[in-house]
Amino acid sequence: GQALLEINDLAVSFSTQGGEVQAVRGVTFAVDKGETVAIVGESGCGKSVTAQSIMRLIPQPPGRIKNGTIHMNGKDLASLSEKQMRGVRGKQIGMIFQDPMTSLNPTLKVGDQLTEGILTHQKISKADAKKEAIDLLHLVGIANPEERLQQYPHQFSGGMRQRLMIAMALMCKPELLIADEPTTALDVTIQAQIIDLFKEIQRKTGVAIIIITHDLGVVAQIADRINVMYAGEIVETGTVKEIFYDPQHPYTRGLLHSVPRLDGDRSQKLVPIVGSPPDLFSPPEGCAFARRCDYAMEVCVSLDPDYTKLSNKHYTKCWLQDTRAEKPF
Ligand code: SF4
Ligand code: MG
Repeated sequence: GQALLEINDLAVSFSTQGGEVQAVRGVTFAVDKGETVAIVGESGCGKSVTAQSIMRLIPQPPGRIKNGTIHMNGKDLASLSEKQMRGVRGKQIGMIFQDPMTSLNPTLKVGDQLTEGILTHQKISKADAKKEAIDLLHLVGIANPEERLQQYPHQFSGGMRQRLMIAMALMCKPELLIADEPTTALDVTIQAQIIDLFKEIQRKTGVAIIIITHDLGVVAQIADRINVMYAGEIVETGTVKEIFYDPQHPYTRGLLHSVPRLDGDRSQKLVPIVGSPPDLFSPPEGCAFARRCDYAMEVCVSLDPDYTKLSNKHYTKCWLQDTRAEKPF
């Protein structure tokens, strides 16, 4: 059947004083109904820009969608008017950011924010909106909802505020939630609770989730599939098992060495990947990871690798798996 979200060959650039930064370069992936897809990579790899493109939140200018299409339920989002797009945001796609205060109003009681939001999207009575707000707080695991609705955001702890923001994002029962670094600002215990909450919400509502993070460890428990991004491109994509137990791209392997293990052993020393990503003003002709790659071959520097299919869902953009490359070993 048709995927819920389909992104095809997306390219996004930003013009700056230094030139045009090619932030996203040929990103293609789909999200099925009820599925959780993670986008993982270092800061600046294009993962947030990809998310903002889906929501059409790229400021144009200086941003520009140079190429590609984004379809939601078969509808080309680029063809929608800004007014129609406002209907998509929140109603079909909910968004959660790293800093909850970006979507909470500090001067309004939590209950007023929630009921107002519900009332702008649904023609129901104020009393019913309040009931829905209470249900939402229950859903996101906030105790004593009646009392909590009378409070202001600053009266909530960091973790509770993040739960509140998740409630806001779920207000209009979206089919897709996009969470950009939803746990980055939180301590490890609270992180785990929020990830559990995402799982529970998905089980109860069937919402699809795109979770964006720099930390592979965060998504092991929740994602169905993982897209690993580097320098604006997806360099490897696969199921969680494929990425964690059979990583093929040297960058993915490097990321795995720099995160705590799946079994939760956090005593392991983290090994960072040496070097920094290429300048995206003029991306390299060959593989963007070549300068940092321990396996780089001659071909890597001159020719951009294609995707090699390793299984139904597992693809890698690397010459090591491409039978056309002459291997040095
Ligand atoms: Fe390393 Fe070459 Fe693969 Fe790039 S294509 S990741 S340089 S082996
Ligand atoms: Mg970001």
